[in-house]
Amino acid sequence: MDFHSPHLPGATFAGPAFNSLLRRLSELTGELEPPAAAWPARQFSLLADTGVLGWVIPRAYGGSEIDGRELMLGYRELSVACLVTAFVLTQRNGACQRIAGCGNEELKAELLPPLCTGELFATVGVSHLTTSRQHLSKPSVAVRETAAGFVLDGTVPWVTGATFADYVVTGGTCSDGRQVLVALPAASEGVTQLEPPRLLALNASQTGSIRLEHVHVPRRLSIAGPVEDVMKRGSGGGAGSLTTSSLAVGAAAAALARMQDEAERRPQLAETIEPLLAEHRTLEGDVLTAATVPFPPLLRGGQGGCDATPDARLTIESIRHRANSLVLRATQAYLAASKGAGFAAGHPAERAVREALFFLVWSCPQPVLSAALREFACGWGT
Ligand SMILES: Cc1cc2nc3c(=O)[nH]c(=O)nc-3n(C[C@H](O)[C@H](O)[C@H](O)COP(=O)(O)OP(=O)(O)OC[C@H]3O[C@@H](n4cnc5c(N)ncnc54)[C@H](O)[C@@H]3O)c2cc1C
Repeated sequence: MDFHSPHLPGATFAGPAFNSLLRRLSELTGELEPPAAAWPARQFSLLADTGVLGWVIPRAYGGSEIDGRELMLGYRELSVACLVTAFVLTQRNGACQRIAGCGNEELKAELLPPLCTGELFATVGVSHLTTSRQHLSKPSVAVRETAAGFVLDGTVPWVTGATFADYVVTGGTCSDGRQVLVALPAASEGVTQLEPPRLLALNASQTGSIRLEHVHVPRRLSIAGPVEDVMKRGSGGGAGSLTTSSLAVGAAAAALARMQDEAERRPQLAETIEPLLAEHRTLEGDVLTAATVPFPPLLRGGQGGCDATPDARLTIESIRHRANSLVLRATQAYLAASKGAGFAAGHPAERAVREALFFLVWSCPQPVLSAALREFACGWGT
C-alpha cells in the first residue's frame, strides 16, 4: 500500500534520501510512545542530515526556503511516517519562521545559521497570545518595557520541548494591552521549566509550562512589538494555520493506508474506505491549493462543509475543520475495522485514535472549535 501523496514527486526535496528518512522515522516511531516516550533527538539528527531543518530558513542563512505548497507536502509526508516528530518540527519551524520574518537583522544572523544545522533548538510558547487562557481577564504573561528591553512575569502554559530548547519564542502583554514577542534564551535567570504533564498522546513532545519570574530580555532579542495582536504580524502562521491541517491530513492518510491493507483480506471494508479516500484526496488538494494563496481568507461564521462554495471550502478555518473531522472519522473507522485487536495497547489503531484527538485541542481558533462542537451535536455539514 502506498502511503505517499500523489503530489510528492513534484517536490524539490523528494528523492531517495527523503524516502529513506521517512522509512527510518516510521521504524523508530515506536520508541516515542510510552513507556520510553523518548524525546525525538535521534529523529531530529536525521532531519538535520536530510536538510529538512533548512526548509523554513532563508537561503541567506543556509536554508532551502521551500515554498508554502512544498512545506505542506513535506509536513504531510513526515506526519504519515511519525506524527510526533512532524509535530515537534512544526513547533520548531514556527519559532524559526517568526525569527526569519522579523526585522531584527542581528538576531537573524545570530540564530538562524545554528538553527538550520540543528546546533540550536528553538520552540514556541505563544498559545496564551492566541488560543489559550483567552477567557481570563489577566494576561498569562505580563510585560514591562525598560530602557534595556523587557521584563516578563507569568506562565507560558504550553511549550513543546521546553526542557530541550535553547530558545523559546514567546511573548506577553504590556499594561496598555500591546504585546511583544521575543526569542527568550531558555537558560535566562528566572525561567523555570515545569515537569511536562502526562498526555493522552504525543508524550515524547515533552510539552509543559514554563514559569517566568522577572525575566529580563534585552532588546536585541526582540522579534516584534510592543504592538497590538502581535501574533497577527509577521510570518509563522497563526492559530489553526494550514500546517495543523497538513498534519491532520497525514495522520488520516496513515490510518486509511493501514485500513486499505486490512481491506485486501476483507472486501466489505471498501464501502467505508472509498468515500474516506475520496474526501481525503479533495482535502489534500485543497490544502495544497490554499498554500499557494499568499493570504488565504479566514472563514467567519460559516462551516465550509462539502456542500460549501469553492471559496468557502478553501478558507484556512474550513480546511482545518474538515481536516479535524476527517482524521477523527478515518482513525475511528480504522479502529472499528481492527475490532478488539485494535483496542489493545500498542496496536497502531489505538495509537492513531489517541493521536487524532490531539487535533481537537491543538491550535484551534474559536470558529474551528465551534464548528467541531456543532458537528458533534448535529452531524457533519449541518
Ligand atoms: C500536546 C500539546 C502540545 C502543545 N504545544 C504547544 C506549543 O509548543 N506552543 C504553543 O504555543 N502551544 C502549544 N499547545 C497549546 C495549544 O495549541 C492550545 O492553545 C491549547 O491546547 C488550548 O488549551 P487550553 O487548555 O490552554 O485552553 P484554555 O482556553 O486556557 O482552557 C483551559 C480551561 O479553561 C476553561 N475555560 C476555557 N474557556 C473558558 C471560558 N470561556 N469560560 C470559562 N472557562 C473556560 C476550561 O475549563 C478549560 O479546560 C499545545 C497543546 C497540546 C495539547
